[in-house]
Amino acid sequence: MICPKCGEEFEGVCLNCTNLDELIWLDNFIVITCPKCGSFKLEGKWRTLDFEDVIDYLISKNVRIHPELEIKEILISYNPFTITFKGEISKVDVEIVKQPKLKILKETCTKCSRESGGYYESILQLRADKRKLEKEEIEKVNEIINEILRAEKDNQKAFITKIVERKEGIDYYFGGRNIGKKVSRKIVNEFGAEIKESKTISGRVDGRDLYRFTYLVRLPSYKNGDVVKDDGKICIVTNAKIKKAVDIKTKQNVTLKNPKLLARKEEIKRGVVVESDEYVVELINLENNEVVFAEKNAEVKTGEEIFILELGNKFYIIPKELLNESR
Ligand SMILES: [Zn+2]
Ligand SMILES: [Zn+2]
Repeated sequence: MICPKCGEEFEGVCLNCTNLDELIWLDNFIVITCPKCGSFKLEGKWRTLDFEDVIDYLISKNVRIHPELEIKEILISYNPFTITFKGEISKVDVEIVKQPKLKILKETCTKCSRESGGYYESILQLRADKRKLEKEEIEKVNEIINEILRAEKDNQKAFITKIVERKEGIDYYFGGRNIGKKVSRKIVNEFGAEIKESKTISGRVDGRDLYRFTYLVRLPSYKNGDVVKDDGKICIVTNAKIKKAVDIKTKQNVTLKNPKLLARKEEIKRGVVVESDEYVVELINLENNEVVFAEKNAEVKTGEEIFILELGNKFYIIPKELLNESR
């Protein structure tokens, strides 16, 4: 093609007559960030991103490039804010440097303003059945909560409003209903707990009822190694999470249906067999050297080490191998 302006021959655009600076057109850069959590607002949505990613995003939105110019590389530097475009036009390598204005505006994000306003949609009531919560259980639950909040970082309702310690357990207040739901499901999977969901009306917006959801999560009374009675059988819990236990008489595995706690793992004593007949085993309780007589619910040998279970006034023997795994 011949340039009508200068008469030179060219392909694409005539570089004699083109101001390179005009091949790229861009807006000022406005970054909106939350001073509390550092998230960024992009197209009306709050997101957790790195500042560099925000600039990359704004470049893709703010910059218009001449169709004949093929961009090969974009370099960004700050202080002052400079964007260098490297590319090719009319078979010539060009470099165009732009210094747009970069404005950083502060605005409290939805999540932070909800959080500071005490907003919550769900309560998780963590309890343990017929006992107190244990330190490790609380730690595990905190881990689960942190994991879920991390995974939901762009969810504007993924936060804890408050944690209230009560005599009977701990109440966690969550911004979103789904957070309460997800956390309680995860706890159920982890501990084999029971869950009860209920809701109350918390207000009305635009003629619509708003609800608050309560998830009552009760951890089982028994743990691995505890003794329970289920379906008439005395069993040692082997996996509380999936309700597995072993019958101390038959040594067979059972799935617990409606177990009742008989004794804690800590209450089971170590003993040694002195002698035994068809019905009774004479034992020495190794923890206090007392002699006890137990029902012969399993085969034993004289001198064998064994565990002793005391229920009411009766003693039972627990073969060693049944407890080894969970002790
Ligand atoms: Zn020209
Ligand atoms: Zn924020």
